[in-house]
Amino acid sequence: MPMEIDLGPQAAAFRDELRQWLEANAPAELKGEDARTQMMLGGPAIKEWTQKLHDAGYLCVSWPTEFGGRGLGGIEVAVLNEEFARAGVPRVTRGMGESLVGPSIIVHGTDEQKAHFLPRIIDGTDQYCQGFSEPDAGSDLAGLKTRGVVDGDEVIITGQKVWTSGAQRANMMFCLCRTDPDAPKHRGISYVLTPMKLDDGSSNGFELRPIRQITGASGFTETFITEARAPLFNVIGGLHNGWRVTMTTLGNERGGSATTQHVQYQNQFWRVVEEARRLGKDTDPLVRQRLAWAFSHVEIMRYNGLKTLSEVVARKEPGPQSSLNKMFWSEYARDLGEWEMNLRGAHAMIRPDGEGYRLDRWQSDFLGSRSGVIWGGTAQVQRNIAGERVLGLPKEPGHDEEAGK
Ligand SMILES: Cc1cc2nc3c(=O)[nH]c(=O)nc-3n(C[C@H](O)[C@H](O)[C@H](O)COP(=O)(O)OP(=O)(O)OC[C@H]3O[C@@H](n4cnc5c(N)ncnc54)[C@H](O)[C@@H]3O)c2cc1C
Repeated sequence: MPMEIDLGPQAAAFRDELRQWLEANAPAELKGEDARTQMMLGGPAIKEWTQKLHDAGYLCVSWPTEFGGRGLGGIEVAVLNEEFARAGVPRVTRGMGESLVGPSIIVHGTDEQKAHFLPRIIDGTDQYCQGFSEPDAGSDLAGLKTRGVVDGDEVIITGQKVWTSGAQRANMMFCLCRTDPDAPKHRGISYVLTPMKLDDGSSNGFELRPIRQITGASGFTETFITEARAPLFNVIGGLHNGWRVTMTTLGNERGGSATTQHVQYQNQFWRVVEEARRLGKDTDPLVRQRLAWAFSHVEIMRYNGLKTLSEVVARKEPGPQSSLNKMFWSEYARDLGEWEMNLRGAHAMIRPDGEGYRLDRWQSDFLGSRSGVIWGGTAQVQRNIAGERVLGLPKEPGHDEEAGK
């Protein structure tokens, strides 16, 4: 395993405290499981573990303490991720609520909005999905057409979203809608926290049609919204001013997982090394060269993650450099996924169960990794952002605002 980085005495003390807590509390039945799969399955063990983490204050850890978080800085978050990985248990989070919506409310919300929405994310009352993309608005997100009409103290939303990850599990959508159709396209958008259900449990105008993915799973939906009502109180950053909030959310989407990213790929790397050994290919110089390539990429991810976190601590939100991370890990994952399949040879193409569409872990890695270069902004769009906002190159013709998704 790679060397543990010496992050100073404070981080070492935090590491000791955490290690002891994990030794006493980590559930044996969840060891070796990854959080994402377990959260998807939603079994009793993961629910119990989530509650334990909540009670001990290990959810929303990077939020300031005044908003119910733990106020951890970048280095401590990195330590936390490393210790969970070391203990082999899922580092459960409150998903998009924790990583995208909460940080955007903290930056742009009023005191009343913070007091209302943030505790509901921490205690799991509200689970969010992201209502940004539409059939004709992905990379060009500001071209979105979903309408928001103000009616008294409510906004009434009608339109179509697509690729809405986790919509089936969510009760709230952070939804972008056009509330001023006459304003220039980046200026007339509002960012509305929209309830997906009414108090009696019926739908608040949402129809979800699951989309089947190449992996066989249906992690997202086409989402049709017909006159969904949200209180004006739920508009973050002010009416028509949603683009600024969107930029914060997208900055977090690109850079927010910076310190967790390498942990996942580190585990994957050691699985590949094991597999190369099992297949007797670990002495092949070409395989060894590729493994060295992979190892150095994962290490670069780790250091880039720490760099992004220092940026977040200094600026309160990730800057445009987070686009470099997004580009780096997503293209690496796609290339490694392909190489894994080559390493394993022809039998990698066979489904383990024959019938149905269940994939083994390698096949899931390979197929799943294709999407990383698309969601949260494609690799090409990340290059535009890096070109314009990191390198200061001229803007794309016809784009006078920040690049979209
Ligand atoms: C697994 C997954 C989960 C997702 N989850 C969500 C979600 O929860 N909520 C949500 O709102 N969206 C979600 N998305 C949608 C995602 O954000 C969009 O797919 C993405 O922004 C690209 O938009 P698009 O699909 O419309 O492609 P397009 O924007 O049509 O792009 C098509 C191609 O053109 C290229 N391109 C477009 N514009 C430019 C440009 N200016 N310069 C250079 N190249 C360009 C793109 O790179 C791409 O190769 C998800 C997508 C995936 C794959």
